[in-house]
Amino acid sequence: PVRVRFCPSPTGNPHVGLVRTALFNWAFARHHQGTLVFRIEDTDAARDSEESYRQLLDAMRWLGLDWDEGPEVGGPHAPYRQSQRMDIYRDVAQKLLDAGYAYHCYCSQEELESRREAARAAGRPSGYDGHCRDLSAEQIAEYKAQGRAPIVRFRMPDETITFTDLVRGELTFSPENVPDYGIVRANGAPLYTLVNPVDDALMEITHVLRGEDLLSSTPRQIALYKALMDLGIAKGIPEFGHLPYVMGEGNKKLSKREPQSSLNLYRERGFLPEGLLNYLSLLGWSLAPDRDIFSLEEMVAAFDVKDVNPNPARFDLKKCESINGDHIRLLDVKEFTERCRPWLQPPFAPWAPEDFDEAKWQAIAPHAQTRVKVLSEITDNVDFLFLPEPVEDEASWNKAMKEGSDALLRTAREKLEAADWTSAESLKEAVQAAGEVHGLKLGKAQAPVRVAVTGRTVGLPLFESLQVLGKEKALARIDAALA
Ligand code: GLU
Repeated sequence: PVRVRFCPSPTGNPHVGLVRTALFNWAFARHHQGTLVFRIEDTDAARDSEESYRQLLDAMRWLGLDWDEGPEVGGPHAPYRQSQRMDIYRDVAQKLLDAGYAYHCYCSQEELESRREAARAAGRPSGYDGHCRDLSAEQIAEYKAQGRAPIVRFRMPDETITFTDLVRGELTFSPENVPDYGIVRANGAPLYTLVNPVDDALMEITHVLRGEDLLSSTPRQIALYKALMDLGIAKGIPEFGHLPYVMGEGNKKLSKREPQSSLNLYRERGFLPEGLLNYLSLLGWSLAPDRDIFSLEEMVAAFDVKDVNPNPARFDLKKCESINGDHIRLLDVKEFTERCRPWLQPPFAPWAPEDFDEAKWQAIAPHAQTRVKVLSEITDNVDFLFLPEPVEDEASWNKAMKEGSDALLRTAREKLEAADWTSAESLKEAVQAAGEVHGLKLGKAQAPVRVAVTGRTVGLPLFESLQVLGKEKALARIDAALA
């Protein structure tokens, strides 16, 4: 049975790279009717926060990526927060030491640094040089007498490590490139290098799908796994698949600190979880060459990690918005009407809550649904219905109100007054006729009307907007513009 894990560290805000990793693991688990383990890697007390932990859970819930074992749902390998598993790591580290798979390293930072410099200068590999691998009892006694506190270091076997990456194919690491590495700090705190593979082993993870940035950890983890198997702690070595880098502007790796990588931004702007996930799935994967838009169910049915493209994927906010817009179009109108609610209320909505009019919202919503790419765009598009006056926007006003606009507006008002307000077509004919009087095409003729009534140069289909606002108010706004 397939068992995969999503195991973020709770530092900072959730970002899109993390979501992509979660999504691919989730889709893989669901495709194989396997198990998704959600584990919190919070062994770094200095960087981890409760706030970030809550945000991670909240993000997964919002995205609809459910997990089978982990925080709040529990499971046979609980607890799923590494901060609550410290005894386990202490015990495993001791076993590794006892069996000689790891050793105490007494080198100070300064010593390590100066030997590293020397190795670099001599053109030798600059990783750990094995200094403390085989200390004699006297040397150890002397270091202890000096009051040195050792770290625990894993002894890499002197052999080439080869594995078949599910995304990248066969990869080979030679021993000089993978030196012995620390697994427990001098203060006893276990490191990622230990706790991550130990938990993967104990939680019987079968496939590790994670970002390419972790590729260099894999040969170390495979060696550690072999030791854990020998100690009876691991049953086997998982398969590994490294997901491609996500690139941002200027072909640089999309940084966690860039605003456009923060998941919160997408939530506030009103991306649909399904739209965002659809886009993120395209960062390294595709359903079919000609299919950009699909549902999560379709993704699950088709997802195979072997189809993931190893080349860096470019993050494109415009494309992300456009795909989200397509998902908005796919919603049932009622569903759309409901999902917009947050943006019809404070703090987003600028109108007084009591001025909101449900009937008007229901009437305009279908027209809005065809236009917006993200739900937050709804607020500006409908504010003319709920604000006592249209927003004042000088730039729009100046753009639409040219010489002759007054004359046009006067004619349009006359014709609109006489039009049939039960028919948007009739309103359109009225404005068209007014345009003809002044030698203007419909597009030009409707611009001053739109600005007079909505305050903006762009917006929802004008004649439907006029209808929903109502004859009396619409004409009064044209009068106000003429005054
Ligand atoms: N906690 C690690 C991280 O967030 C997990 C890496 C892994 O998947 O092995 O980077």
